[in-house]
Amino acid sequence: MARTEQPRSTATFDYVVVGTGAAGSIVAARLSEDPGVTVCALESGPPDRHPYIHIPVGFIKIMFNEAYTWQFKTEPAPGVNGRSVIVPVGRTVGGSSSINGMIINRGQADDFNSWAQRGNRGWGYADLLPYFKRFERRIGDGDDTYRGRDGNIPVTDLDWHHEICEAFLEGAEGLGIPRNRDYNGASQPGCGYLQRNIYKGLRRSAGRMYLLPAQKKSQRIDLRTHARAFKILFEGKKAVGVRYVDERNRTIHEVKARREVIICGGTVNSPRLLQLSGVGSGELLRSLGVEVIHELPAVGENFRDHCSVRLVARAKNSKTINEITRGPALVGQVLRWLAGMPSVIGVSPSLAYCFWKSDPNISGADLQAVFAPASYKEGFTAWKISASSTPR
Ligand SMILES: Cc1cc2nc3c(=O)[nH]c(=O)nc-3n(C[C@H](O)[C@H](O)[C@H](O)COP(=O)(O)OP(=O)(O)OC[C@H]3O[C@@H](n4cnc5c(N)ncnc54)[C@H](O)[C@@H]3O)c2cc1C
Repeated sequence: MARTEQPRSTATFDYVVVGTGAAGSIVAARLSEDPGVTVCALESGPPDRHPYIHIPVGFIKIMFNEAYTWQFKTEPAPGVNGRSVIVPVGRTVGGSSSINGMIINRGQADDFNSWAQRGNRGWGYADLLPYFKRFERRIGDGDDTYRGRDGNIPVTDLDWHHEICEAFLEGAEGLGIPRNRDYNGASQPGCGYLQRNIYKGLRRSAGRMYLLPAQKKSQRIDLRTHARAFKILFEGKKAVGVRYVDERNRTIHEVKARREVIICGGTVNSPRLLQLSGVGSGELLRSLGVEVIHELPAVGENFRDHCSVRLVARAKNSKTINEITRGPALVGQVLRWLAGMPSVIGVSPSLAYCFWKSDPNISGADLQAVFAPASYKEGFTAWKISASSTPR
């Protein structure tokens, strides 16, 4: 279908938000708190009704489900020995917060402060702390100087423990890495159990905790799923709307914004949409036949992700998650989960962590290891480090 086709429908809102992931869900929800404001939220993927989105252990399945994810792959890169690395990204209401590892780790103060020191005013830790506190409802220990108690996203401690995790942490302590009771508190380095956005046995995504309740409450968010934006509409250099394709029937539609168009498509898709709309490197856009609206060479450049190396070890004299999730044992775990009891069905893919230093002279942590008493299919959780009894 030619992208120049006339739109099948046009509508006008105060704000148009592209993408309903972690960012878009919160932005749309907060904007809708303003009485009289109308918001259109466009989401390329389907609604988030698949049960594997919400059952924590379902991440194993949903992360590679093409209906609910974008399965990007990097170009072969010299730093990874010429390999392409899979980059799965959420594609449903809640975006990647509907398919991710459910770990709540806000990052360390030093990192944010280094951003501010490089001239990014407003990005120091003290600037961001009120927002970190505002989004979370910490359930469990924590110093209220750092932790929020009234936010939308419940942050809980692990309720399902495993002896091999404890052995991992004792090993870390033996290497001089102290236990840290709250890595989202005063300081990050140390080891311990991860905090999660899992509550009462279910994943609590940004879609479920922000967007959908706000839509119900305000009745002023028009959420359009299966709606993939492919062009930002400009009047001069001002974004005034978005053109999207309804992925179900390939029809083209247009939504206009009286106030702002806000792009929350994620790290890969936001720059892609900007480039398709004429914002980016003029040389590149011209070479692809895209009319240049605004020359901004950094768009689409400098992508960085956190690579991880997965180590798998054989465990003795203990049942790992692999064994616990097979046959009759799995039935028992499902029944426990249904009864609201701690169960392997309600755990995040990683359970324990170390944040530590590659050099004792470094003030913060520059290394992260996460641990699970499980092994996954090769290439599966490439961003995690796991240990296991059953390497595959
Ligand atoms: C596999 C995986 C595991 C992760 N684990 C963790 C973790 O344990 N803890 C943690 O804190 N973070 C984790 N993350 C990172 C975290 O999920 C992301 O940082 C966060 O979701 C980014 O938010 P976002 O709103 O920028 O993008 P996303 O949440 O990815 O949302 C972008 C949304 O925009 C939609 N979209 C994109 N383009 C268009 C378009 N053109 N038109 C309409 N809609 C569009 C997408 O479909 C998607 O729904 C993980 C991420 C992944 C992928």
